[in-house]
Amino acid sequence: MVRILVCDKIHEDGIRILREFAEVDVSTGMKPEELLAKVPDYDAIVVRSATKVTAEVISAGKSLKAIARAGVGLDNVDTKAALARNIKLINSPEASTVAVAELVMGLMLSFARKIPRADLGTKQGKWEKKELMGTELRGKTLGIIGTGNIGKAVGRRAAAFEMRLLLYDVVRDEGFAREVGGRYVELDELLRNSDYVTLHVPLLPETRHMIGKRELEMMKQGAVLINTSRGAVVDEKELIEALKGGRIGGACLDVYETEPLTDSPLLSLPNVVLTPHIGASTIEAQREAAVVVAQKLKKFFEGSA
Ligand code: NAD
Repeated sequence: MVRILVCDKIHEDGIRILREFAEVDVSTGMKPEELLAKVPDYDAIVVRSATKVTAEVISAGKSLKAIARAGVGLDNVDTKAALARNIKLINSPEASTVAVAELVMGLMLSFARKIPRADLGTKQGKWEKKELMGTELRGKTLGIIGTGNIGKAVGRRAAAFEMRLLLYDVVRDEGFAREVGGRYVELDELLRNSDYVTLHVPLLPETRHMIGKRELEMMKQGAVLINTSRGAVVDEKELIEALKGGRIGGACLDVYETEPLTDSPLLSLPNVVLTPHIGASTIEAQREAAVVVAQKLKKFFEGSA
């Protein structure tokens, strides 16, 4: 029988699917040496973020045929070492699409209606009604950079808020553009004409610092940059300068070049809304991530993937 080691806490529904075809051991919070000692007995391991699947772990896992991460990327897995051994890599990027898209809407509304300040002030006994004049999303232009799963989910939600949509991607999906009443344009045109710019590209050599000094200078005066993709898609140093200088109106960030974010000038800027990489952190997305990787592992071991 297939033997699977689950190294981080994943949703019970995923474990249930794994048990349909495998013997499953759940052992969370292991020290690296404990994992090294255990891994030789298993055909597959399942992790989330805490466990680091290093080259050493992979080499110790003599029977390993698959490594699964219940989550978006495979940042904590030495993918090179795994591929060299022909080990199947499995993840679940599709599971967090709605969670991230809803966070983007939440961030835009937070910024436009100054909700974080309103909450803090009201709890401090202030009644800052005059200072809290906001703006509406209706009629504003949202530029979506990267119209994959998340970019599309954001576009559909923004269309329901009656926002105008400008789209940019290396691969255009004209059917999607028609569906949301949006228009594909070149990056520069999107930057020059958007009130909000939201990033949904993967981090690749071509997208690293895709938004730098030149792009920030191109943005409309007062525009807001939203990043829920990967920190390094934006040149954070240049973003801080643009925010300090009032070149752009603000930023809403869930991801940073270095995480966790400590000691950054971002922490004391008034025109930013910051969250600690919680894009995928919903109960629904975590459940879905566990179920998706369990189903993919099942397919793999049943020989159909
Ligand atoms: P996806 O693969 O479905 O879409 C990415 C899109 O980017 C594709 O349409 C692709 O053509 C486009 N693209 C790639 N390179 C490009 C380039 N150079 N210029 C323009 N477009 C380019 O991915 P997704 O599921 O929508 O996820 C998007 C991003 O969101 C990923 O970077 C992922 O890491 C991030 N993410 C973050 C969180 C979070 O917790 N904040 C959670 C999930 C995903």
